[in-house]
Amino acid sequence: MNIQRFIDNRRHGRVHPDSDIREFVSAVVAESITDAQISAWLMAACINPLTIEEAGTLTREMAASGETLDLSILPRPWIDKHSTGGVGDKTTIVLTPMLAALGFSVVKMSGRGLGLTGGTIDKLESVPGFNVDLEPEQVVRQAAEIGLALTAQTPRLAPTDKRLYTLRSETATVDSIPLIVSSILSKKIAGGSDLVIMDVKCGSGAFMKTLDDARSLAKALEDIGKAAGIDVRPVISNMEFPLGTMVGNLLEIKEAIQVLKGGTGPVRDLCVHLAALSLDPDAGREAKSKAESVLDSGSSLEMAKRWFQAQGADPAMIDDENWPTAENQVPIQANSSGWVESISAHQVAQTAFDLGAGRASGTAEIDPTAGVELLISIGSRVEQGQNIAILHSNRPISNEVVETGSAAFTIVDSATDSPALILE
Ligand code: URA
Repeated sequence: MNIQRFIDNRRHGRVHPDSDIREFVSAVVAESITDAQISAWLMAACINPLTIEEAGTLTREMAASGETLDLSILPRPWIDKHSTGGVGDKTTIVLTPMLAALGFSVVKMSGRGLGLTGGTIDKLESVPGFNVDLEPEQVVRQAAEIGLALTAQTPRLAPTDKRLYTLRSETATVDSIPLIVSSILSKKIAGGSDLVIMDVKCGSGAFMKTLDDARSLAKALEDIGKAAGIDVRPVISNMEFPLGTMVGNLLEIKEAIQVLKGGTGPVRDLCVHLAALSLDPDAGREAKSKAESVLDSGSSLEMAKRWFQAQGADPAMIDDENWPTAENQVPIQANSSGWVESISAHQVAQTAFDLGAGRASGTAEIDPTAGVELLISIGSRVEQGQNIAILHSNRPISNEVVETGSAAFTIVDSATDSPALILE
């Protein structure tokens, strides 16, 4: 293909014919074009976004660039869940065992951290022994045995996304709606599910900063999903503040397990809503109480243990909670007395990243124990000097990082309301 012409067309906002997109995808997989050329096109695609038709073509071509999972031996419905990426978002660890406990066949392909947002694969990989690399045959076999299997992107399914995803993370070209849609849905099509619960995050800690953008993303996912025969059910949830109390890989696993053990709070609330939506497009009262019952009865916790065991981790860790911890733990203290008005998801994510919880390049190592533990929530009353968060890292924690963390908190003189978690 003439890659220079393809890049130049995007740069000038000229619509790509389907055949050019097909050739581009083939060239990405065949590695006949360089990272620099792909990155240049990605940047041009951020500046001159693809049309919905182009995004649909890119999605289909990306899905067709590898194998598609054949789930026909599994009982229906075949469900998948996806979050567009947030801070402290450990819903997959709670929700997938809930869905399996509700009788769905859950087959999920997850990603690593992208930009400042964490990735489920990095979180699960921080659990000693947990194998995130299942071959397609293993995925289907495990889902048939226990109802749930989760794997990192494999080179066999949607291989184009693996390369594009890494380059987007490295080149600040993540937050383009058509690129996000093609990345997510190509994996969903290849993953074979017919129902996808889509948690579209909106706010300072998400790729979609405004409700309008989140709505556009939700609609594009729904429409392009429908054209591919997938029932995509979107929810827009608030990512102005981190989800729950823990941000960082292993820290988030610990919080997820607390929720599976009956813990209350926003993580449970969101997971109950998402599970209810999978049972009923209106997420009505009956669906909600069914969703709650699989948490309250302990069946989701049992399913999580079977899942951990099936993927190589010791399920006793879930009971013992004897997890590794970071060498250094430094508190953040309230710089005035008052009420916590906001906790910036972006600022907390930056802090967790600086502590070692994220990776600056595709191959960088992450510190599984690093992250931020919030000790208060929005609306809490705090006194000057009170510990409001703890920073965890195996690196020495500099004053600069403490200041970045401290800047996440806005403390005001009068009591404030907690913001809504589910926006639409
Ligand atoms: N999640 C994905 O899988 N891809 C994106 O581009 C963003 C979130």
